[in-house]
Amino acid sequence: MLKTKRPKKNKQSSASIMLRSQIKMIIVITISFSMMMIFGVGHKLLNDVKLSTWQITASLKKNEIDSDHDWDDWRKNSTVDINHSYIYVHNLRQDAEARYYFSPRADDLLQKKMIKVPFINNLYYRPGFGFLYRRFVSSNGIYYTLWQNIGPQLSILMRVIEVSAILLAVTLVLAPIYIRRLTARLTDPLTDLSTSTQVIHQAEQSGLIQLPVPSQPTEVTELAQDFNHLLALLNQRQDQQKLFVMNAAHELRTPIATIKSHAQLIDRHGADHPEIIEKSVTYITKESRAMQQIIEDLLAILRVETLSLALTRMNVTTAVSEIMQPLEKPIPQKLILQLEPNLMAQTNLEALEQILHNLIQNASKYSKPSDPIVVTLANKENASVSLTVMDQGLGIPEADKAHIFEHFYRSDDVRGSIPGTGLGLAITKQFVDLIHGHLSVADNPTGGTIFTLLLPSAIDTTGQSDHS
Ligand code: ADP
Repeated sequence: MLKTKRPKKNKQSSASIMLRSQIKMIIVITISFSMMMIFGVGHKLLNDVKLSTWQITASLKKNEIDSDHDWDDWRKNSTVDINHSYIYVHNLRQDAEARYYFSPRADDLLQKKMIKVPFINNLYYRPGFGFLYRRFVSSNGIYYTLWQNIGPQLSILMRVIEVSAILLAVTLVLAPIYIRRLTARLTDPLTDLSTSTQVIHQAEQSGLIQLPVPSQPTEVTELAQDFNHLLALLNQRQDQQKLFVMNAAHELRTPIATIKSHAQLIDRHGADHPEIIEKSVTYITKESRAMQQIIEDLLAILRVETLSLALTRMNVTTAVSEIMQPLEKPIPQKLILQLEPNLMAQTNLEALEQILHNLIQNASKYSKPSDPIVVTLANKENASVSLTVMDQGLGIPEADKAHIFEHFYRSDDVRGSIPGTGLGLAITKQFVDLIHGHLSVADNPTGGTIFTLLLPSAIDTTGQSDHS
């Protein structure tokens, strides 16, 4: 399992992008929330001021102040809170004892001009007095002007603003820390994976390299597991390829060594003993052919690896009998065909040709010329067509049956006595896979071997098997 140092995140990493956008979002939310709270509280406080000024002016109107006595009476007996109020009464009635009445400091207040606060009706600022809400009412020729100091409300509002500012500051400090930790939890496993994949090609060890699998988040766990699975497959494939190349080199080394030794023999003794030349040339020719066959088979393996074949619905009975015709001539054995008529299969002609060619070649190679080879084509119950090639030859030892489809595998009893590369059945198996068939081997009860190829039968558009 690889352990790697985590690299620094760049500005475009998902962690940085998530961090930036989440911090922006949290700041916007906190500011909006604070603003809403400030406006809400401010609005409520203003309404409170409006209500209390309305109560004071209503009380003034009710008492109808048109003498010093009324004025003092009202100020002493009024139940409304006038601690923060400045009142100016202008009496225009004929019978007025006094024209003007001022509450304490109200005359001071009126001596200088008020500054109007924009956007809010009746709100003014007066240096030395602060913010004041004005209400003007009249009743029976008496005009009352009330200036209500909103200092207490403002201090509440200021407290709200302070709390909002503290909230914003705390958010600004804590949110990045929290978000950084959260994004790290989400993206660090991905970063680790990425770093591990980068060092894989640098790792020199021959063993299986695996990525660390984080326990969370689930998506990354699954990704790492899938990646490890893929890695294992690739390693396995690489091992197989190495083995294949080693085997190929080994198989080619034998004929090369034989050719070399015979060439040296001719070189050293050919002039004195011309009789060895013909024998050595025969060996060289035989080994050259063996080499050529190996190289052709290797090329065939590579070609089939990249081949993709189209499968078509065909009359496989006709196809097999046509393929068999040219195969009969070059072999000494008698070919017996037992083909059920008009069997349909979803297959490919080229693949079928190659498979039959290889199986017949083997059956011929490993049988006596007098032993017939039987090819049968039959309908199978499990919606498939079976094609068998049956010989009465050497047979295959039980222990070898599991290996004969491997590259370069040959039974000990044929190695050295019967020519071959050990690649024919591997190529055959590749073609079988390409047409989604299944190839198996069994002993012929009367001696020899039976190879059975199962072909997927043609499926018509209604999904029904077609064996007609
Ligand atoms: P080759 O025939 O060139 O050796 P193949 O891959 O075709 O390579 O076959 C692999 C091995 O399987 C053969 O070497 C042989 O031992 C065995 N074999 C294949 N077909 C037959 C057969 N019909 N009868 C007996 N042995 C067979």
